[in-house]
Amino acid sequence: MEGTVPCDYCLGGSTAAVKTCLTCFTSFCEEHLRPHKELALLRAHQLIEATRNVAEKLCPAHSRVLDFFCEREQRPLCHECSLSTEHRMHRHTALEEACRAKRVLVEARVRLVDNTSGLLQQETATLSEDHTNIVNLSERCSSQLSRAFEEARAKLSRREEEVMEELRNEAQRALSPIEVSMEEHVLGIARLSSVKDSLQALLASEVDPVSFLKASRGACA
Ligand SMILES: [Zn+2]
Ligand SMILES: [Zn+2]
Ligand SMILES: [Zn+2]
Ligand SMILES: [Zn+2]
Repeated sequence: MEGTVPCDYCLGGSTAAVKTCLTCFTSFCEEHLRPHKELALLRAHQLIEATRNVAEKLCPAHSRVLDFFCEREQRPLCHECSLSTEHRMHRHTALEEACRAKRVLVEARVRLVDNTSGLLQQETATLSEDHTNIVNLSERCSSQLSRAFEEARAKLSRREEEVMEELRNEAQRALSPIEVSMEEHVLGIARLSSVKDSLQALLASEVDPVSFLKASRGACA
């Protein structure tokens, strides 16, 4: 997880360290580690697998490796801490063990989050489907209604034309005989007017009685 830890003694940091000394706070490659193995004074130094930020991995109070985990206070402890009066009565587990247990909890949490997220995604998909369905239905209804209204308007307008046509025809049927009679009467009046004219002309003509009677014979027939 940390990647390769470089040896603090090799220039350029290109050589991988094999051990980290907890007394020197230094990481060594195989070559530079040799004094720690050979010199009596250095052999007392505690060596661990090569690691970065070694200070963070040591107990700040005792500068020893944090090997334990206090379950009560949820914090890492060194061997000395675990024996202290403060922690003696608390339940301790190996740090690695505590880490594994915590990892299991975190994994369970990930699964829970995944499930919840999956449910939300399903619900979102359902909502989106409902949304689409309603939009489509509404559009379909709208165009159907619009078509129905258009047909109704066309039908109404056709009906209006028919009714008006019927009305015109009926009026024409009623007017025709009246118009015929009026024309006949106009002709009759004209004819009578000319008869009257000839009668008045007869009256106005100052002829002798024999001629008058002869002329008026046809007039009073
Ligand atoms: Zn080295
Ligand atoms: Zn050392
Ligand atoms: Zn400690
Ligand atoms: Zn404790």
